[in-house]
Amino acid sequence: MKTPFISDAALKKIVATTPTPFHLYNESGIRQTARDLYKAFSWNPRFKEYFAVKATPTPAILKILQEEGCGFDCASSVELKLAEKIGAKGDAIMFTSNDTAPGEFMQATSLGATCTLDAYELIPQFLEESPQAKVVSLRYNPGGTFSMGSMIMDMPGESKFGMTHDQILEAVKDLHAAGIEKFGLHAFLASNTVTNDYYPTLARQIFELVLEIREKTGVTLDFVNLSGGVGIAYEPDQTPNDIFKIGEGVHHVYDELLVANGIDKLRIVTELGRFMLAPNGILVTKVLHLKHTYRDYVGTDATAANLMRPAIYGAYHHITVVGKESQPHDHLYDVTGSLCENKDKFAIQRQLPEIEEGDILVIHDTGAHGAAMGYQYNGKLRSAEILLQPDQTTREIRRAETAEDYFQTMIF
Ligand SMILES: *Cc1c(COP(=O)(O)O)cnc(C)c1O
Repeated sequence: MKTPFISDAALKKIVATTPTPFHLYNESGIRQTARDLYKAFSWNPRFKEYFAVKATPTPAILKILQEEGCGFDCASSVELKLAEKIGAKGDAIMFTSNDTAPGEFMQATSLGATCTLDAYELIPQFLEESPQAKVVSLRYNPGGTFSMGSMIMDMPGESKFGMTHDQILEAVKDLHAAGIEKFGLHAFLASNTVTNDYYPTLARQIFELVLEIREKTGVTLDFVNLSGGVGIAYEPDQTPNDIFKIGEGVHHVYDELLVANGIDKLRIVTELGRFMLAPNGILVTKVLHLKHTYRDYVGTDATAANLMRPAIYGAYHHITVVGKESQPHDHLYDVTGSLCENKDKFAIQRQLPEIEEGDILVIHDTGAHGAAMGYQYNGKLRSAEILLQPDQTTREIRRAETAEDYFQTMIF
């Protein structure tokens, strides 16, 4: 059974004073996740996590991660500004963009960020905008399919990201000749993986390329960026990833391929988003109406504008009906929002306890790619974000949008 990180009684207290819907984050859980990650990779002395800002771009959350030693992975000018506003600079920022807009490399480099080049064709733009850069990361796409054993995990050959094998070798030569001193290699080949083997399998592919680059260009890389893609158990019967096993798995491949070949100072970095935050956030919503037609519908006060993943990916998010956890799950419901859009469903044909108007629902695992993907379709406004602090008190970390916010950019 999947249980929320907050007790029913404590949640009811918050709901009594905070209008629903809202996103609630668990500070203790975020800190523990970061500490476990650092511990799992402590064998690599300069290890660093660059939290993927796009997953949860909320300053209070970013500051918690900053306190735990994390840097930030940004992909746009505004994300760079956000990182700057919370005081990040230099080695604390990774800029992993694609189809990079003019001026963004300049902005990133002036903050001291490390830029990841997504395309061979971006090299002239990068060198022109960032003549002072001494370090660069290259994003690798091996093409074909990415499989683990007999399981096909994803299709890099159909992905817009990264450079081919030959382009990587050319890029190292060109950039080295242009004065770049330190190189990193980046790859993100599968998303939301629920297996302890993804990072180790990915690391093996990248480390092999590290050796080939050294052989063919004479350049020994400085770091490898394993990026994001370590997933979480959204479904109750899935076994969550064990970050300690993942760290050990990468350690093993590192020793086998790199240390055995005389490379023992290469730094490992990550850009996890979902793994860090998803289980540490919930969307709390109230049941407004029940409706019985060809199916039984539960209408909530949240919509896909608060959590888009079910609507766009058909993603599963577990739902707990607060106070009814131990009742029989013998009713079949579609749990919906109020958008004029039939995809606006948080759950389709889900077995739940009997629901009444006024019930509070917890939609699980919304801490990453949840509020962040919010939008204002149908004039629905972004909800508040609340932080549950270690002493069990709460703090509003982003207020709910108002109609005035919505009208702000309109020209009447
Ligand atoms: C989205 C993204 C991440 C984070 O992915 P998760 O699945 O949230 O771990 C990391 N790096 C880059 C470049 C991304 O685009």
